[in-house]
Amino acid sequence: MRIEKIEVLPVRLPLKAVATLSRGVSRTIEEGKQVILVKMTGDDGTVGWGEAGPSRRWSAETTHSACSTIKHYLAPALLKRDPFDLAGLHAVMNTELAPGLDPGQPVAKAAVDMAAHDLVCKMLGINLQSWLGAKGADRIELSWLVSAPDVDGTVSSVQQGLKEGYRAFKVKVGHEPALDIERVRKVLEIAKDCTVWPDANQGYTLDDALRAARGFDALGIELFEQPIPMSDFYGMKRLIGATGLTIALDEAAMGLPLVIDLIRREAVEGLVIKVNKTGGIHYARQLCDLARNAGLRLIGSGLMDAPLGFAASVHVFAAYGIDYPCDLNGPQHIAEDYTAEPLPREGRFALVPQRPGLGVVMDEAKVKRFALQIPG
Ligand SMILES: [Mg+2]
Repeated sequence: MRIEKIEVLPVRLPLKAVATLSRGVSRTIEEGKQVILVKMTGDDGTVGWGEAGPSRRWSAETTHSACSTIKHYLAPALLKRDPFDLAGLHAVMNTELAPGLDPGQPVAKAAVDMAAHDLVCKMLGINLQSWLGAKGADRIELSWLVSAPDVDGTVSSVQQGLKEGYRAFKVKVGHEPALDIERVRKVLEIAKDCTVWPDANQGYTLDDALRAARGFDALGIELFEQPIPMSDFYGMKRLIGATGLTIALDEAAMGLPLVIDLIRREAVEGLVIKVNKTGGIHYARQLCDLARNAGLRLIGSGLMDAPLGFAASVHVFAAYGIDYPCDLNGPQHIAEDYTAEPLPREGRFALVPQRPGLGVVMDEAKVKRFALQIPG
């Protein structure tokens, strides 16, 4: 089997709502959800699809960087190679773009990785979860993202999430500890018996993070995501010792070398897995295995994924039986997408697609309709 053709197709999907991180709005309504689609065709005519949807206020990749990286460096190097040699494809990508503490432009590499996985699974006639060889669950629970930075916006967001049937709420914090504690208190008050956890996206100083963590702890919160900058290993260890909260790392957990070092330093208790930030399914599963074997809490998340990234994540998280609600908030924010039929859902649960590959049926007329021109 050989990879015959790789096409790079940027699209802009309309948003119905924005998400606000501690650094600001992740994507404006005008920007939309920009995605670089990768269409990989095998020598038997089978087609695999993947996507890169970077979030520039979350990590250092952009739509433009992902597009130019895939088009000029990754795609040309992979032509004529065997798609079943997924480890080999990553080795080639890592030769073209050197990895560091993370796989090196992981969001761009993830698009190619997803397309290759989709291609080989379709060639075999199996879905991705079967390829992963683990059926821990047939569904994952989705959480609702509460990102409005003020109390009123927080309250109305939770009310909307409850109305839509969600029972888990991730609250974006990292602003001012007293205000954030009050927002989380409000969420708990309205969303009774629901799962609630804060995510600071590196937004706090260590002092503020300690103050916020003690406040959250007193409210009965049990998980706190990426409170401080990813480079502050000393601070992470301090936080772990300061409260009963599980400190989960997201931005700090993009690649195996750093996660291994954090485990050795006893500076990590929970790992947030995202298929895109880790460089794709190939590395995401390695991080899941590492976390499980090291006794770390495993949490599933994403970067406001469109259906291809969403489906890839559902397969991986369900394979590992992740039962904590997953922050895959694409459906909450993206108004329209490129699929011919919706992905399987049962209320707040995303079901593992059973069609071969990722299980996403693409509508190429919509890919054309949402096409985004990116020069270069
Ligand atoms: Mg996070």
